[in-house]
Amino acid sequence: MKNPDKSPVIDQPASGILEIPRPTRSEVVGVIRAAREYRLVAICPIPAGDLLFRIEGVQTTTPTRYSLQIGENLHVDLSGGHSTEEILDRYFWRFMNHSCAPNSLIRDREVVARRDIQPWESVTFDYNTTEWDMAEPFSCGCGSVDCLGIIRGLRYLTSSQRERLGTVASHLRRHMPGECRVPAGTSQA
Ligand SMILES: [Zn+2]
Repeated sequence: MKNPDKSPVIDQPASGILEIPRPTRSEVVGVIRAAREYRLVAICPIPAGDLLFRIEGVQTTTPTRYSLQIGENLHVDLSGGHSTEEILDRYFWRFMNHSCAPNSLIRDREVVARRDIQPWESVTFDYNTTEWDMAEPFSCGCGSVDCLGIIRGLRYLTSSQRERLGTVASHLRRHMPGECRVPAGTSQA
């Protein structure tokens, strides 16, 4: 999972200038590079509930600094050897930052607007809503009044902190307060 403080090193000229968003396969988001950091931003107004894009990548059982958890023991990651071009065009989800007050959420592999998103706004989601136990915890600087500080995954959140998240990914729902734990293979009466 991506740590906002450590953007991946991609072979591009150093620049502190805000660049025109580079289009991706999605028609509503683009990647900008500012202060030597890549960021995914909206390039048009995106209404709440709209699909932003679908996350592409290989499935793995080993979480990494950049992987995204999509199942109990399943993560999406990049296989090695992709060119910068490919990462920017197809695997741009890697540049989504965490926020404790995010503007999008992840449903399986789909990224959906949680509220209206304005052009140039960074596309963010709450890593605690997808990750159970992060490979590389980090200190959050989102500035939200509800900021949790160190982000390590849902595993480390108290009951009331979990409640405040709202929707979490389906593989984490059984860890939410008040959720019934239905054993696999049985149906709920
Ligand atoms: Zn925060």
